[in-house]
Amino acid sequence: MWFRRDLRLLDNPAWSAATNNHPRVVALFVIDDRLWDSGTPLRQAQLISHLNGLDQELASVGGRLRIVHGDPASAFTELAQGESAGAVYWNNDVTASSRARDQAVEQALADSAIASHRYWGNLVHPPGSVLTQKGTLSRVYTPFSKRWLATPIDQWPPAGPAAIADDIGAGIPEPADGVEAPMAGGPEAAEARLEAWLSGVDQYHELRDRPDLAGTSALSVDLKFGTISPRVILDEIGGDTEGRIGFVRQLAWRDWYAHLFHEMPEMAHAPMRAEYAAIAWRDDPEGFEAWCQGRTGYPIVDAGMRQLNTTGWMHNRVRMITASFLVKHLLIDWTRGERYFRKQLLDADVPQNAGNWQWVAGTGPDAAPYFRIFNPVSQSKKFDVNGDYIRTYVPELTQLDKKFIHQPWEMAPLDLAAAEVHLGDNYPHPILDLSEGRERCLAAYKAVREDTR
Ligand SMILES: Cc1cc2nc3c(=O)[nH]c(=O)nc-3n(C[C@H](O)[C@H](O)[C@H](O)COP(=O)(O)OP(=O)(O)OC[C@H]3O[C@@H](n4cnc5c(N)ncnc54)[C@H](O)[C@@H]3O)c2cc1C
Repeated sequence: MWFRRDLRLLDNPAWSAATNNHPRVVALFVIDDRLWDSGTPLRQAQLISHLNGLDQELASVGGRLRIVHGDPASAFTELAQGESAGAVYWNNDVTASSRARDQAVEQALADSAIASHRYWGNLVHPPGSVLTQKGTLSRVYTPFSKRWLATPIDQWPPAGPAAIADDIGAGIPEPADGVEAPMAGGPEAAEARLEAWLSGVDQYHELRDRPDLAGTSALSVDLKFGTISPRVILDEIGGDTEGRIGFVRQLAWRDWYAHLFHEMPEMAHAPMRAEYAAIAWRDDPEGFEAWCQGRTGYPIVDAGMRQLNTTGWMHNRVRMITASFLVKHLLIDWTRGERYFRKQLLDADVPQNAGNWQWVAGTGPDAAPYFRIFNPVSQSKKFDVNGDYIRTYVPELTQLDKKFIHQPWEMAPLDLAAAEVHLGDNYPHPILDLSEGRERCLAAYKAVREDTR
């Protein structure tokens, strides 16, 4: 069994099949050093912690997690031959790179007369199973979500009685010095997080846009690494309150982006609305760097980027605000922001990340209209009402009151100095004028829309 982004034993179809079909199973995780090195130390630490959690779960059924380093195609054939394995089992992923890798592994295994068995274990419904009456995948979210809800969930059998091998191979690596996983790892910890969320989910519809409160589940990292199955979450949450219905809708977005990706892997880098490929994006290295570092002079944007850089996670509302600021106000290509998020996020997931960036940029299916440009000041006042989220991540502004914390440049210089804020010194002046940025953006989008008419 090749574990990848399904680091759990419960509700895992590949694991169930392997342990039901064979008397002995080796539980493997392959560390491909190129991929490993692309993660931040924080994400590596989180993955290591999840691997340790999975290892503990395997120990409770008499086995261990075996770690192998290398390119999966060669690592596998060598190992499977040594173990005289009859078959290798795994759960699929939708991105182009993982599909290409899986094909290479499948071919290498076939050349050694070893069978591959593949499942869909990380979505509620597999790609291609939620279709319109015409048999196509809806390009509009609401009809998709209605069909998705009405589609019966295919039950997987529980894990079988196979003996689990207990050789640890190279062993689970240690995290970088001084780096700790942001959250407790493994399936047991993920289930505890779901249990804790059951007491918050009924307020989801009211609190989900408040970055200053714990109004969302924070389950995205578990969903990314597969320490919990989305179907287990769905089953526990049900849908009998407004909060629960709203929450389940988000799981449907997750499936929708994955299904779209399966059909159009080019969504990772190409705008789905072809006319937008011609937008004259700006090359603004200083603006991009200020955005990455959380030094734009717009407190909510800076708070979001600093939350991302220090914790590896960012609240959804603030993801939208920061992304809109980059794409619309700074007019910088969304793919650059997508790459930066993909590098930093613990929950980085190409379909979700690129799908949402395309939503913000207005280039994706069922996306925000191109003229919807989030105003970072009014968004900040509306969703971080008292400025507490800003104070958490932008300590330079701690002493500002709720009236000025969203727009410190509006405060009289003497009052600012009394609050120990020195614009241009310990906190930047705004890097652009919002209305100028807005006009520039609208002109750039309109130009390509007119060009293609
Ligand atoms: C620019 C941008 C980039 C994003 N990049 C990612 C990413 O790389 N990985 C990722 O998992 N999510 C991404 N999201 C979606 C969303 O921000 C996160 O899933 C959410 O913030 C995770 O927090 P949570 O688990 O507390 O969410 P909750 O609000 O508790 O939602 C529960 C689950 O539903 C799913 N979900 C929620 N919102 C969305 C959404 N907008 N699109 C798709 N699925 C959603 C997630 O799996 C999430 O864990 C991105 C959003 C934006 C605007």
